[in-house]
Amino acid sequence: MFSLTMLPSHTPLRSPAPASPPVALSPLVLRTLALVVGLGLTTLSPAQDRRPVAVESPRVVVRTGEFPILLSAPHGGTLPIPGVPPRRGEGMAAGPAGFFTGRDGGTEELAYELATELRRRFGKPPYLVVSRVHRRFLDPNRPPEIAYEDPDAAPTYETYHGAMTRFCGEMTQRFRCGVVLDLHGQGSQADTIFRGTKNGQTTRRLQDLFGVEAQTGERSLFGLLAREQLKVHPQPLDGREASGFTGGYIVRTYGDAARWPIDAHQLEMGADYRSESGRRATARKIAAALVTYAELYLEHTPGDTGEHHPPAPDLPE
Ligand SMILES: [Zn+2]
Repeated sequence: MFSLTMLPSHTPLRSPAPASPPVALSPLVLRTLALVVGLGLTTLSPAQDRRPVAVESPRVVVRTGEFPILLSAPHGGTLPIPGVPPRRGEGMAAGPAGFFTGRDGGTEELAYELATELRRRFGKPPYLVVSRVHRRFLDPNRPPEIAYEDPDAAPTYETYHGAMTRFCGEMTQRFRCGVVLDLHGQGSQADTIFRGTKNGQTTRRLQDLFGVEAQTGERSLFGLLAREQLKVHPQPLDGREASGFTGGYIVRTYGDAARWPIDAHQLEMGADYRSESGRRATARKIAAALVTYAELYLEHTPGDTGEHHPPAPDLPE
């Protein structure tokens, strides 16, 4: 159940917008407004950052962070989008990169649990972007042409990706690095978490700086998860990622080392890890692994004030 107290403090509670608001802003106006807001928040050039930073929505939980870990959960939601019918997928290929409407139950709640646990350990919040919408209406883990069919779903999609883009830009500016954890659910092995990094393509920064061991070694993210008694795949860690779970649009888009110094991991969680009875322990274990990960690869320890990259020059006496 979604408890109101779990809402991030700066996310205002609003009732869903009526299907036909008396004064509807056109998508173009919203985009323009959003772009103006976005330009004030990031120094990325418009050429680098074409996505508008859309206005906050009751259907996307957006919470800014204080250290360079960004949690994303695109498929755990249950809400409709007012006035938008379910997607039909006519003429679209199905499959891991195509049309699919099944939700990843429990991942919305797991994202909040993990954010809470990270806040407890680091003393400050991670970045968080969560869709509360059912995948029948919108799939944020796809390019726009597959993600939605009704144009009234576009603002919600843009809110999700506008926030992801803004936060990756912000992590780049403030911390010179960052990691995206994209949380999903899979139904094939209940006790397993599958790694999705396009077999290392979405963790290039990590491997360039720290070697391939940072992707496939015992102290890689999935090695650290295994140390917390979470069952992970691939095992051994330098094996190939499982077909269908190699990582989707979100990790490809935000784990692009040519664009910014950010790595992205897709975590395909088995049912045991996202069930109501299991997810608190899951969050504790992932958070414990992330403390070590942040020390090793983000040069960030709990209690850091952050924003220490590059080191400040010595001031003259
Ligand atoms: Zn998913």
